[in-house]
Amino acid sequence: APEFGGKHVTVAGLGVTGVPVARALHGLGAVVTVVNGGDDERARAQAAELTPLGITVRLGDGASLPPGTELVVTTPGWKPSSPLFAAAEAAGVPVWGDVELAWRLRGPGAAAWLAVTGTNGKTTTVRMLASILEAAGLRTAAVGNIGVPLIDVVLGEETYDVLAVELSSYQLHWAPSLRVHSGAVLNLAPDHLDWHGSMEAYAADKGRIYEGNRVACVYNAADPATEALVREADVEEGCRAIGFTLGTPGPSQLGVVDGLLVDRAFVENRQKSAQELAEVADINPPAPHNIANALAAAALARAYGVEPAAVRAGLRAFSPDPHRIEYVAEVDGVTYIDDSKATNTHAAEASLAAYPHIVWIAGGLAKGAGFDDLVTGAAPRLRGAVLIGADRALIREALEKHAPGVPVTDLDRTDEGAMAAAVAAAAELAEPGDTVLLAPACASMDMFTNYNVRGDVFAQAVRARR
Ligand code: ADP
Repeated sequence: APEFGGKHVTVAGLGVTGVPVARALHGLGAVVTVVNGGDDERARAQAAELTPLGITVRLGDGASLPPGTELVVTTPGWKPSSPLFAAAEAAGVPVWGDVELAWRLRGPGAAAWLAVTGTNGKTTTVRMLASILEAAGLRTAAVGNIGVPLIDVVLGEETYDVLAVELSSYQLHWAPSLRVHSGAVLNLAPDHLDWHGSMEAYAADKGRIYEGNRVACVYNAADPATEALVREADVEEGCRAIGFTLGTPGPSQLGVVDGLLVDRAFVENRQKSAQELAEVADINPPAPHNIANALAAAALARAYGVEPAAVRAGLRAFSPDPHRIEYVAEVDGVTYIDDSKATNTHAAEASLAAYPHIVWIAGGLAKGAGFDDLVTGAAPRLRGAVLIGADRALIREALEKHAPGVPVTDLDRTDEGAMAAAVAAAAELAEPGDTVLLAPACASMDMFTNYNVRGDVFAQAVRARR
């Protein structure tokens, strides 16, 4: 493990990652400076937490490298093109992400990492995986965007056999030495292109999860781009490519046969060509995208040696997190669904495909995405659409082009009351039996702190109408 005593480390960014990273480095004896471009109330509150410890926090300047910096540890929000990294490169200072730091600091005999990335379904899959590992009696934790920060899990007192780790493309970008037991890429659709610069760069960062895998590289057989990443990866000898499919699995794949999840990749009994794992009905909710998530989780667990019975028990024990196609209420015969977590078009596509007659509430920050395909696919199901947020004009244009008969209410507002107004406008457009679906296909930060708050505000507005 690297030595940090007296080392001058600059942490790029505060927030849910930067604060625990700064604390951890300080605890290891490093001389820590946190730089943060923003200087808002939240940043000040976090700075006030760190400065009494002896950590320097610079607010309102995220561009210049503090003199004497020997290492930069960045939080995921920072774009690779940020001037800070150019300054680090010019000074010959290495840049690590928080995952790189955690990976290098893991102790001897540390837990194995089963890692999950993909455009959508990461959190769900990681939680399913942790549930399966728990059912197998293993000491485990789900880490990533959920629960205890990764750095605290790695440095903490508690010991684990195996970790279920969610990794974003940002984190993979800055984790060059990461070599996990087994990794999965769930799917690849355009997202965060403003951060990565291009689809190629985004895919390449996701593909880093396979680099050096020891046992299995899990890919989505319906998404050839994920399989291509396996082929490009440099893995340990004996590491296998394992596919998952919603159809009948080929050899070395997991799939679905007659309502059962079956495994043809890891079959203990030589007399059998497939191993039954669970019923589709064990998965909550049993929607296609979620069955895919369950298969990916099962593949990683099986790669780690988990028995079929534990896969089933773990999947049965799993229930989804809030704001992911969450039922809110029925009002005047109309069902209201909160999929605030649909922060990109690929996720929104999954929930828009799940209901026959939809009044769609959408909009927010588009992050460079296009809406033509999403709207074309959803058009036959749309009763109407209500648009909010900064980039709503992009969605309006796509609706005008590809769904010309669909009534659209364009709420020209981004204030706090806009969501209640959107719910009222949606109720106006909906007929009994319809679904009002919040699936913004956009990030929330133009109007809300995060997607949780956006979903909560939506649910409140719905319940107020009962
Ligand atoms: P992530 O952690 O990758 O953001 P989540 O599990 O939190 O993924 O789900 C994000 C959104 O994507 C939700 O709106 C959910 O309904 C949708 N979703 C989940 N799994 C998939 C999938 N495999 N394909 C497409 N959309 C999905």
